[in-house]
Amino acid sequence: MQTPTPLFIPTDEPSVYDLHVDNSAKELFETCARAAEYYSVQRREGIGERPALFRGEVIHGACAIRQLHPTDDYQSQQLGYVMRMYADKDFGPDEWRTCEHAVNSILNYNKTWPVETEPFTLLPNTVEMPFKLRLGTAELDSEVSTHAGTFYVKSVNIYYTGIIDSLVDYGTILVKDIKTTSVLGPTFFDDFVLSSQMHGYVWAARKLGYDAKGLLLDVIAGRKPTKSGVPHEYQRQRFFYTEEHLVEWERDTFTLISDFLEHLCRAYFPKSPKWCFGKYGRCQFWDVCSQLPQNRQTMLMSDLYKPVTWNPLQPTPTI
Ligand code: SF4
Repeated sequence: MQTPTPLFIPTDEPSVYDLHVDNSAKELFETCARAAEYYSVQRREGIGERPALFRGEVIHGACAIRQLHPTDDYQSQQLGYVMRMYADKDFGPDEWRTCEHAVNSILNYNKTWPVETEPFTLLPNTVEMPFKLRLGTAELDSEVSTHAGTFYVKSVNIYYTGIIDSLVDYGTILVKDIKTTSVLGPTFFDDFVLSSQMHGYVWAARKLGYDAKGLLLDVIAGRKPTKSGVPHEYQRQRFFYTEEHLVEWERDTFTLISDFLEHLCRAYFPKSPKWCFGKYGRCQFWDVCSQLPQNRQTMLMSDLYKPVTWNPLQPTPTI
């Protein structure tokens, strides 16, 4: 059985631990504390792979290849990567997010935004840049129960972690982030004005010593092919984040993670059923929550779930 990435990482000081939190874990807590308990505390996740998330991961990888190796044969490297990733995937006959669709997304992206005419330059060594930055320390002075057992925790050093797609110089320094979607309307872009994930990346870039001012959002829209529809669409938009908003992001994020730790000390994470069905369909823990309370642990430990092994500080290499 695989060992999960630990929630609490021991330090040299007794009963003092490091905690790594990335955007996905934080978002889970913001939406449903019970989901955060299952994912972050019990370290379990559903085995089912979602076609939309998988497509996003593959497109990201292919775009990273282009940024890392913008040489003559980058496109053939991209296509080889996409085909390798999809080689053993079968999402069923009705799924439109196929290997062929992903290949066409990449080919059309390269035609829409040729490398030679990009209006920005890439900052060196910033493609798929992992970060781990301290947000503060939370005093717990409490027994806690996690996937690793029950033990005493005096305090927790909270680190925000993640991976920045890249940094570019577009007159000013911006975090460049690729987003894949199948729904592209005005509200899609509005969502990035206050986006916590993007404020976090810009905050991180600044902490790493870059004078980042905002975000260059690079959207790759893919839709189910129809007679009249547009299967591929590409848009880019810049967003600028103020110092005040970034300072507020840091405080908000530290407070939210402290709230998560308070739930841990209280040993109770309430359900928020409003989020059981969302953008990516049914919550991965629906099969657990829909059981009687006494049967949930059995379901969570069943073959429908697996240990969480994701670690943003050790990302899967693209090539
Ligand atoms: S199924 Fe609903 S209540 Fe349960 S963890 Fe998911 S969002 Fe929360």
